Amino acid sequence: MNKPDESVAEVFGSNVFNDTVMRERLPKEVYQCLKQTIDGDKPLDAASADVIANAMKDWAVEKGAAHFCHWFQPMTGSTAEKHDSFISPTPQGGTIMEFSGKELSRGEPDASSFPSGGLRATFEARGYTAWDCTSPVFVKTDGENTALYIPSAFCSYIGHALDKKTPLLRSMDALNKQAMRILRVLENTTSNRVTATLGPEQEYFLVDRSFYEERLDLILTGRTLFGAPSPRGQEMDDHYFGALHERVASFMHELNLELWKLGVSAKTQHNEVSPAQYELAPVFATVNVATDHNQLVMETLRKVALRHDFVCLLHEKPFAGVNGSGKHNNWSMVTDDGINLLEPGQTPHEDMIFLVMVCAVIKAVDKYAKLLRASVANSGNEHRLGANEAPPAIVSIFLGDQLSDILDQLAAGGAKSSKQGGELKLGVSTLPPLPKDCTDRNRTSPFAFTGNKFEFRMVGSTQSTSGPMFVLNTIVADILSDIADELEKAKNVKSTAQKILKQIATEHRRIIYNGDNYTDEWVEEAKRRGLANIRSTVASLETIMDKEHVAVFKKHGVLTEAELHARTEILLEAYSMSINIEALTMLNIAKRQILPACIEYSSVLGSAVGAVKSAGIKTPPQKKLLEDVCRLIEQLNKNIADLEKTVAATRKVADATKNARKYRDDVIPAMQTLRATADALETIVDAELWPIPTYAEMLFIR
Ligand code: ADP
Ligand code: MG
Repeated sequence: MNKPDESVAEVFGSNVFNDTVMRERLPKEVYQCLKQTIDGDKPLDAASADVIANAMKDWAVEKGAAHFCHWFQPMTGSTAEKHDSFISPTPQGGTIMEFSGKELSRGEPDASSFPSGGLRATFEARGYTAWDCTSPVFVKTDGENTALYIPSAFCSYIGHALDKKTPLLRSMDALNKQAMRILRVLENTTSNRVTATLGPEQEYFLVDRSFYEERLDLILTGRTLFGAPSPRGQEMDDHYFGALHERVASFMHELNLELWKLGVSAKTQHNEVSPAQYELAPVFATVNVATDHNQLVMETLRKVALRHDFVCLLHEKPFAGVNGSGKHNNWSMVTDDGINLLEPGQTPHEDMIFLVMVCAVIKAVDKYAKLLRASVANSGNEHRLGANEAPPAIVSIFLGDQLSDILDQLAAGGAKSSKQGGELKLGVSTLPPLPKDCTDRNRTSPFAFTGNKFEFRMVGSTQSTSGPMFVLNTIVADILSDIADELEKAKNVKSTAQKILKQIATEHRRIIYNGDNYTDEWVEEAKRRGLANIRSTVASLETIMDKEHVAVFKKHGVLTEAELHARTEILLEAYSMSINIEALTMLNIAKRQILPACIEYSSVLGSAVGAVKSAGIKTPPQKKLLEDVCRLIEQLNKNIADLEKTVAATRKVADATKNARKYRDDVIPAMQTLRATADALETIVDAELWPIPTYAEMLFIR
């Protein structure tokens, strides 16, 4: 609960070692040194690091912390932490609290159990964590334990990136470098740095904890592997933006407070399309900080939900037949002097920097569409992309009226005007006229221009935002670098720029699509345009090592070929492991819960048939039902045996790609068949006997 004296302003960032705290607690010279390091201008010297570490320790101890940890993001997609206490024994047998600059700057967890994709054998255990000073240190309390958290990068003994943060930071540097070249050659003299920004909207489901605990599939896999559709789904469209349920509103209130304490600027909250589905959006930050914050958002969602007897499901598709969850990544590029490079302003057709930036994004998305697609490929997202709800698996860009018109003009030789939004009059004298945006929205587009940023909507709700964002940063940096090469050697920069824009507007027009992305016509049209439509996760992951992908990461220093290969292996293995766990969980539920319940029901029916017959009714209707149930039981038994055999055969395949293909081609179909039979049984078996909570209960009971 909010205490009356606990204003949001006081709560916000209260557990963050932020700029205000630094100014208060660090000597002026040390503060200046740290600022320079954060801005990338010079490395931190050892003496300053000691002073900073000591100040952090004092601050954390005042907040009740006895431990610190390097907090990093291994390639599992979640976070990792190993706690060390500040205590240090004294010769007198007592203890003092200590924290050195060395401990702050570098950690050495035993790295052997994190996925490395073959970059490191298990016996080569050494791995290092390095403090990322661009993401603020914070204090976090879990249960009775409070610790100081130090956001860190994670690499192997020989310097291979083993985490999600390192390539993201490298890609930000690459984008900064190339965007600055464009700014300089186009006569911007005021900006010194370009930062990629991200505001990730997070979708999630809440189910009552008591239902969750009765569903092994939710516990082990995060999604329902069985479940006939609820008689009522999302067809009434009444959940979207609906009034918040009291229990949910209380949950959101506490969630916000917890996030604000951590400096996460949770801003927007609302009901989403499916019943039991919700969304949270923060105010945007640098992609690095926003990615760290999104990890905290996912963790806090789970934690606070439990306090309200809910369980938060972050899976991309917890329930078949209703909407899945995504994580819309709103992305832009902003200069250190506050210019949003994707802000069209009043007269975008005259703003050469804006036009170059937008056209670079268009070309990057077209040229590297497969890589973008692969950046969101996982087993959960396979249920969403292209399944007539979230965006399709075809990458395309929604530009809207104003920019599409400008692109047409550029293709014709030069842009001379910009369409304006105007005013919307509602015809009611008491309502004010509304200023109208220059473009409508398109909720079906995978990559939409939304006024002053692009929104990448294919990202899955469980995913770290790092992958999709370092891909986007890198491919845009790549196109900007090509453009900068040409402009820097041009005699007439302006006419050369016009020529480049004309070329992009002509050659990459095919990636623009402003219509409804969910239709079959678009699938056909996209095929005619030669755009890829990669529905399968495995097929998508198989494109990662394409020559031009290896080259673009290498050129911009984001990932070496070995690092990229390792990541691909990890993603393929993760796909196989997820499906394997799902299949085994299905078998467990089918054999130990569903089958016994059905057998019980058949015996009830059998007795009923006997009783009714002996009462003199020759062909009782119960008999037909009994026959139906027995036929389905037989089918269920066969489906179980088939799935068992398929999984056993698939597990023997060692090669990561072949193994993943077999899970896709053999195991998933066997799972689908088993589910269909079980779901058919659910619709006829006595509700009292059905062993697991139904869709209707989980989606509608609060
Ligand atoms: P909507 O998508 O409904 O228009 P908002 O305009 O609030 O919602 O934006 C959604 C997300 O986009 C928020 O997280 C917001 O902070 C973020 N956002 C806004 N401007 C930028 C920007 N320049 N760069 C990155 N993200 C941004
Ligand atoms: Mg949005």
